[in-house]
Amino acid sequence: MTGLKPPPLRNDCFALPAGVEWTPVDAALDMLRDRLGPVTGVERRPLAQALGAVLAVDAVARRASPPQANSAVDGYGFAGAVPEGAHVMPLADGRAAAGVPFDGVLPTGRALRVLTGAALPEGVETVILEEDVTLGDGEIAFRGPLKRGANTRKAGEDVAAGAVVLPVGRRLTPADLALLSSVGIAEVAVRVTLRVAILSTGDELTEPGAEAGPGQIYDANRPMLCALAQRLGYRVCDMGRVPDDRAALRATLDRAAQEADVILTSGGASAGDEDHVSALLREAGAMQQWRIALKPGRPLALGLWQGKPVFGLPGNPVAAMVCAIIFARPALAVLAGEAWAEPQGFDLPAGFEKRKKPGRREYLRARVRAGRVEVFASEGSGRVSGLSWAEGLVEIGDDGRHIRPGDLVRFIPYGGFGL
Ligand code: AMP
Ligand code: MG
Repeated sequence: MTGLKPPPLRNDCFALPAGVEWTPVDAALDMLRDRLGPVTGVERRPLAQALGAVLAVDAVARRASPPQANSAVDGYGFAGAVPEGAHVMPLADGRAAAGVPFDGVLPTGRALRVLTGAALPEGVETVILEEDVTLGDGEIAFRGPLKRGANTRKAGEDVAAGAVVLPVGRRLTPADLALLSSVGIAEVAVRVTLRVAILSTGDELTEPGAEAGPGQIYDANRPMLCALAQRLGYRVCDMGRVPDDRAALRATLDRAAQEADVILTSGGASAGDEDHVSALLREAGAMQQWRIALKPGRPLALGLWQGKPVFGLPGNPVAAMVCAIIFARPALAVLAGEAWAEPQGFDLPAGFEKRKKPGRREYLRARVRAGRVEVFASEGSGRVSGLSWAEGLVEIGDDGRHIRPGDLVRFIPYGGFGL
């Protein structure tokens, strides 16, 4: 299966239902979830190289964890329970330690020195903590009661052999690597890392560090989108800036389609004279103008370029980032083989007042201070400083709403999006 790629996406994979003027955010997301699928092949990787990779098949425990019953503490082990009252038990010779089992069977009525993690030898069912014991000459004294099985871990109590420990589509975390290793998995079948091409469009754009002529601005979207893709664990193909020139854009899209699995552009995605991204996708016959009931966000241009999905994001940096987070992020995840996951948000009291009209979803740049959600002073979609000021987004539903200070609002930290 190594290197084998899934079939290409269908040309109409981004088609929105006909006759709908503004598509609700959730309907658009449902479509991305239903119509997209993994586009990368499968490879095997050792655990040490698997952090952030996406499982291509379920991971199945090769062995139970723990593999055998063992002691949870340093102490003394014996058979059965002991009733309330004072007890004295003779000690058997030897001991059981982690990795160094006791060789033999413990006779009933005797106690054995056991250390944390030691496999329980035959005849040991219960362990008393060493702190609760007085050690004499060849015997121990302690007080009951103690239930049978106290201070021990059962075989397989964490994971049974053959159990699915992590499902296909899981993006592996440090904790996941611990789990996989604990059940004897040394190597995993994962999706080949998704390659994401990123380019900016616009005659007005120049590079920080370069001389900026009159009317020129520095490219803010490309560094942001590259970093976003990198943070999400993808391989970034930085295609640079492209002027508002159809031939140049066509050549760059061609190169991007060669080098990457998916293409993110910003700017030129509406229907104006200089909106060459949408014009070229339309020319290629695989273009959908997404009019989403969302603020901030102008039309998105979605399409395929030589079979590769293109997300034509708006040029305004705030709209570009919000659209990238809300639409491109989950779409990239699905293309990368990841299971669909809702961003993790929290309902917290608002530290602001806002009236919102019905009919579209809104995302505000926000952060939490003293347990309250603050929003950036200006909603202007060119205000890059607000993106950086913010530590997440407030999501305000499609209905109209009058939010007063203290009302609960849904705050989604950037981390809730995996950023
Ligand atoms: P457009 O969608 O190309 O019409 O761009 C909308 C607005 O976003 C214009 O004011 C552009 O100058 C600005 N813009 C487009 N691309 C970028 C970029 N990469 N960085 C900063 N601003 C941009
Ligand atoms: Mg432009």
